[in-house]
Amino acid sequence: MNTLTNITVLGGGVLGAQIAFQAAFHGKNVTIYDINDEALDAARERVEKLVPVYTQAMTDAPEGQGAKAAASMKLSADLAEAVSDADLVIEAIPEILDLKKRVFADLASVAPEKTIFATNSSTMVPSQFAAEAGRPDRFLALHFANNIWVQNVAEVMGTERTSQEAYDAVVEYAKETGMDPILVKKEQPGYVLNSLLVPLLKASSALYVNGVADVETIDHAWRKGTGAQSGPFQMYDVIGLRTAYNVASAGTTPEDAAFAEVLKTEFLDKGKFGIASGEGFYKY
Ligand code: NAD
Repeated sequence: MNTLTNITVLGGGVLGAQIAFQAAFHGKNVTIYDINDEALDAARERVEKLVPVYTQAMTDAPEGQGAKAAASMKLSADLAEAVSDADLVIEAIPEILDLKKRVFADLASVAPEKTIFATNSSTMVPSQFAAEAGRPDRFLALHFANNIWVQNVAEVMGTERTSQEAYDAVVEYAKETGMDPILVKKEQPGYVLNSLLVPLLKASSALYVNGVADVETIDHAWRKGTGAQSGPFQMYDVIGLRTAYNVASAGTTPEDAAFAEVLKTEFLDKGKFGIASGEGFYKY
């Protein structure tokens, strides 16, 4: 029997809002924590936008379940209050190591003993901030993909010190919330999915910044040549260009730096964040 019922999601951004919604839709008690009222308003807006999306996608669900999920969700800018009775905290804050370390240290000082901590980080491994989290046996990664209601995989990856009990409880939680758990047996940057996807995205941005081919051509080649539904730049728009920027900025090659610069000056500074804002490499 699973006891992970009260769920707190840290960060109500692109992924955090989806993780929270997916859990509430499947009957969990969900709280979103974010830094201030402005961020919470943005999170609330993201949650409301998911109501018609889920209604359309989940045709087998009882009528009104999406609206009920949205209405049931609590939002808070008070960390201690947001996690006071949490069974599971899922961290979905920006992909910045020092920030994650700081937030896990703050979390450790206020969360109850029972709480399992999970990170949704795409590019880091949980042992990078296990010390700050301070509960090695109840700390692991639970990694979701964007458009969670369709791409419903959840990669579960512990550190060497994660207990089997916590791991199993999180696998069970994933199943209960409509996810297809991918059991990752040891720490691997990028898990399974991004170990495959990131090299593709990096290769495509290198082709682009080196002027080898334009965005549409690269996407067309990938779709036509492999039968895939989306090209890499369409994927960038789905992932969100802020996350793309954080990843490129942390990269080590001249192409990473050039891509980060293009993302900043041509996209982020102009309010183009990808699908979520209506425009990225493409218009929506
Ligand atoms: P995002 O920028 O859309 O959202 C981040 C949220 O965190 C914002 O609401 C922001 O206000 C909030 N935040 C900032 N500082 C905070 C703090 N100190 N405490 C609490 N909240 C804080 O980012 P995102 O795309 O949702 O990514 C979040 C995490 O999820 C990253 O670790 C990323 O690697 C991972 N992830 C993203 C995707 C994706 O496709 N976007 C997919 C899988 C995993």
